[in-house]
Parts: sequence; C-alpha cells; structure tokens
Amino acid sequence: MNIETIAIHAGGEPDPATAAIAPPIHLSTTFEHGPATEILHGYTYVRDENPTQDRLEAALAQLECPRFGKAGTGLVQFHEASGHQKLETPAALAFGSGMGAAAAMLQTLDPGSHVIFPEDVYVHVRVAQQDYLPKWNIAASVVDATSVESVGKAIRPETKLIWLETPSNPRMDVTDIAAVVAAVRASKAPAALVLVDNTFATPVFQRPLELGADIVLHSTTKYCGGHSDVQGGAIVLRKRDALYEKLYHTRLILGAVGSPFNSWLVLRGLRTLPVRMERHAANALAVARALEKSRNVEKVFYPGLPSHKGYEIAKRQMKGFGGMMSILVKGGWDQAVSVASKVKLWRNATSLGGVESVLEHRASAEGPGSTAPKNLLRMSVGLENAEDLIADLSKALG
Ligand SMILES: *Cc1c(COP(=O)(O)O)cnc(C)c1O
Repeated sequence: MNIETIAIHAGGEPDPATAAIAPPIHLSTTFEHGPATEILHGYTYVRDENPTQDRLEAALAQLECPRFGKAGTGLVQFHEASGHQKLETPAALAFGSGMGAAAAMLQTLDPGSHVIFPEDVYVHVRVAQQDYLPKWNIAASVVDATSVESVGKAIRPETKLIWLETPSNPRMDVTDIAAVVAAVRASKAPAALVLVDNTFATPVFQRPLELGADIVLHSTTKYCGGHSDVQGGAIVLRKRDALYEKLYHTRLILGAVGSPFNSWLVLRGLRTLPVRMERHAANALAVARALEKSRNVEKVFYPGLPSHKGYEIAKRQMKGFGGMMSILVKGGWDQAVSVASKVKLWRNATSLGGVESVLEHRASAEGPGSTAPKNLLRMSVGLENAEDLIADLSKALG
C-alpha cells in the first residue's frame, strides 16, 4: 500500500453502528461497564483511550511504520492477511499537544539519565530541557547535530536518549538520521534511543523509523492537522514495547491527553496530507529559488536548494523537502522586522503547516534566550499560488 492510499483509509473503517463513512466523534467521557467494572466494548474512560483517538493512532502508526524487508513497500499491508505477522507492528500515542508528547517522552527517563539535544531545536523543547531536566536530575548535552561526530562524542554510558529534529526549527538544519543511529549503536551507550521530531517533514517526506530511529515525535498542530485549527501531538514507535507502556502510563496519569474532537480534526487533516505536502513543497521550492536571487536576502535555508549544507543528506533521506524555510534578511533585526511589516498576503503569525502562508521574526517570537539569528524570518509556505506569494515577498523585500 502506498502512502496516499494509507492516508485516505487508515483508521477509517466505517462506523460499525451506522456504516457511516466519515468517522463518528465519540465525545462521551465514560463508557458503561459491568458491575465489577468489566469492560464491555473496549473503553472505560476518555483519558485512558477513546474510539476517535484510536482511529487517529491507527492512522499515524500506519503512516510512519518502518520498512519491512527489502522487497516491501515499506508500509503495513493493513486489511490484508500479509505474511508479516511476525514483524513488528508500529504503535502511536496521541497527545494534547506536541509539547505534551515531548514532555511525556522526557518523563519516561530515570533520574541520572543523560540526553543529547541538537543546538537548533523547537524553542520550547529547549526551555523544557533547561527548566525541568535539572529538577528531575537528568543531564543534557547540546550539540551541533549536523555533525554526526559531535553527536558521537557527546554520548556517555548513561546516555538514554538522542533527540533529533530534522529539518530543524527554525534554522532548517538537516541531520543524517541513519548515520546518527549507526554512531549510537557503535557507542558506549548502544541502547540509547534515537528520537526524531518529524513535524516539518511529516511521514509523507521522511520516515525516521525506516532509517533506524526508535521514536518519532509530531506536533500534529502543524502539517498533520494542516488548517491552523487544532492542537495535538503524537509519538510513534516501531512496536508496543515497554516504552509504549511507559508513555501510555505517563499520558494516563499525568494527563497530557487530547480531546476526541481534536483527534477527529487531526485524522481529517491526515486524509489530505500527501496532496498538501506536495503542493507545500512545490511552492516552497519556487519561493526559495526566487528569494535566493533577491539582493536583500543574505541567505535562504531550504533543504531543497543545492546551496543548503544539508542538501545531499536531505536528498537521500527525504522524499520531498517540505514547506518550511527561513531566510536571513540583509542587515539585522530592524531590516528583518521591516520586511515582516510590509508583507500583505503573508501573515505575521506563529505556528506553521497550515494552508495559509505565514512568516515570523523568530528572535522576537522566541524572546530572551533565543538562538535564532536576529535577521531570520521563518516562513511556512502555504497552498496559495506561488507567483502570488513571490510577488508579495518581492515587494516587501524591495
Ligand atoms: C510546534 C512544534 C512543536 C510543539 O508542538 P505544539 O503542538 O505547539 O505543542 C514541537 N516541535 C516542532 C518542530 C514544532 O514546530
């Protein structure tokens, strides 16, 4: 099965009660059980699990699932008695936000653990690392993850987790996932888990589990939802293992759950993810090429440009380069803000991955402690006509 087909059908079995093709939203927080709390239809309480979230999780797991053997398509043959029963079945857990998923992951670690983070990482992951890990007695190293050597050197015997984000937010750094996995396996901590925040690429363009990573994290608020109207997060694993149980327990007890309605909206977003990503990427490439020629742009960070330092790796590990980019405006803070103040079609807004194009001066948005260059504008290229997007930017850039 190919990803476009999976995106349409995964988690979409007709409602057993009505045969409705569009999945129902079960808002019920509680489900009738037997007198000794016997579970009657698979559910008890919404924070444990709920039918709408189950559909979403099935879809996310199938979209991210690892490649099975050389001959396979790389995707689970769902609804088919495949010869793959003995192979691992991926599992997904939905959360109330990307940060809820990230926090749950960090909360599975024992005191005394060590985690490696990339220099360029989603700002609140950095804040979580700085503000919470010391309290939990978890050590962290921050490295330039575009250098596999730097990652390797930072590994200690007590390293439990290597956190990657590729392409990264907002500098669009690209990390060679397979090379990092190989370095970890050959290191002092071969069992350390490699997590990839796959929010920017989405499973349409990058499937880290197929490249050997252990954990995929998403802010489904972004491309998976795709319409700037729902918050969610997810973690996808290669199988229902001990880590899955820990994460499930953390979500249940510490409560970073989403709502059934949010699950439904993200699931609905997934249906069009492959077509949206194709258009996001085509528009982004057109915008990136145009901006590279602008005399008021110092640098364009888009992994689909041969001038990008991660281009060769991106070409190898991604099926497309995505819809995110950032630029350095010639000058400094003021020149970047000035460009942001002049766009009309593009909106100044945070978040990304929606159908509409938005940009943001990241140093302003991230505030004190930001590691974003002062003249950087982060751009989420939407689904408008590329020429219209370029014309608006060209006018603003002057
Ligand atoms: C937005 C984002 C997050 C956090 O997700 P929320 O849904 O906002 O909590 C994590 N990682 C990346 C790369 C993001 O862009």
